[in-house]
Amino acid sequence: MAPTTQIPASNGHENNVSPHSNANGKAKVAKCNPGLLPNRLTIRGVVGGLLTCTNQGKRTIPLAVGDASSYSHPAARRSIADHLSVGVAHKFRETDVFLTSGGNQALHVSLTVLATPGCNILLPRPGFPLYESACDLLGIEPRYYTLQPTRSWEIDLDQVKSIADSNTVGIVVINPNNPCGAVYSSNHLHQIAETAAALNIPLIADEVYAHMVFRGNKFVPMVTFAHLAPIINIGSFSKRWMIPGWRFGWVAICDPRGSLKQVRSAMEMLMNVSSGPASVIQAAVPAILSDPHEKFHNNVLTILESSANTLYERINQIKALKCHSRPQGSMFMMVEIDTSHLLGINNDMEFAKELMREESVLVLPGAVIGLKNWVRIFFGAPSNLLAEACDRIKSFCERRWSRS
Ligand SMILES: *Cc1c(COP(=O)(O)O)cnc(C)c1O
Repeated sequence: MAPTTQIPASNGHENNVSPHSNANGKAKVAKCNPGLLPNRLTIRGVVGGLLTCTNQGKRTIPLAVGDASSYSHPAARRSIADHLSVGVAHKFRETDVFLTSGGNQALHVSLTVLATPGCNILLPRPGFPLYESACDLLGIEPRYYTLQPTRSWEIDLDQVKSIADSNTVGIVVINPNNPCGAVYSSNHLHQIAETAAALNIPLIADEVYAHMVFRGNKFVPMVTFAHLAPIINIGSFSKRWMIPGWRFGWVAICDPRGSLKQVRSAMEMLMNVSSGPASVIQAAVPAILSDPHEKFHNNVLTILESSANTLYERINQIKALKCHSRPQGSMFMMVEIDTSHLLGINNDMEFAKELMREESVLVLPGAVIGLKNWVRIFFGAPSNLLAEACDRIKSFCERRWSRS
């Protein structure tokens, strides 16, 4: 049996409707990728099902597959489920969690199961480019909604409503946010969930920066609002635990009203035909999560917050640059460039290129993430390097500054 065999959720769990559930009408059952309808037998699916039937009185002798070792780690799924259930009303079960190779595979499988012919999905702009690549691969039309720079990067929800239609299969929300460093309030997340509910679509909550918020902010998991709209949560060890090379992440489904039934079985099918994380890494997960590592996480956040503040203040002292809101979490901030006052620089691509040529400071041109004439700056670098980068960006902009 392979390490990530996804055993179907047992009956009776699906409809634990929360007392808050607004039961006005039945939840629409979301369609799933027709290539993943349960009409195909997979080895892992069948073997996983058979394993649940074993005679408890006798030791199982596994002769179905060729793996010499028996190394399934339901404990890893369970520990993720428990980790996500802390402090929220909607509890995750082991069978709600699918282990993936990083957040990247998590977002890929989420979009794969939702892909139906002619569908579209709502993505943030600026955003995280892997969503767009996944859409291209899967034939999903990406539709972009705006994160508003002068409103703490909150989502323009009227615009969300105006771009959605009956072929919209979900909305991706990244909180805490990459690339903007925004952390959404409970109130804004509530409005987002209400919008998803009105549109009858699931929320794909990319929370790979979960809990990475600075003083004065609170990370509110989207699952808090699962009574309004079903949640597909995406998580990863890459950012908060700083082990991107481990390639460990997950997708977790919270669907109190059962509208993701088909999507969930499609996910089981997909995970049974693809491979998840290596068994040695799965084995380490319960131990990693059993220790809160408070000192480590607090330390990281203190450093990130101080770097974010320094960068924010220094950038705003440079005439040609503007950061509209101080980052509240994650590791990134967006900076607007006033190209009209920079000699020989017409856009963000040229800004990044010339800055590299003259100062060897590497920033991400906003065009890559959907926002022209902005750049994204990573503030997780060591503080002495960040300070030097600020000096160099400043002298670059001063040299190029022109009054015209
Ligand atoms: C880094 C990142 C991911 C991907 O996570 P990995 O574990 O590195 O694959 C997904 N979404 C966002 C917003 C990210 O910043």
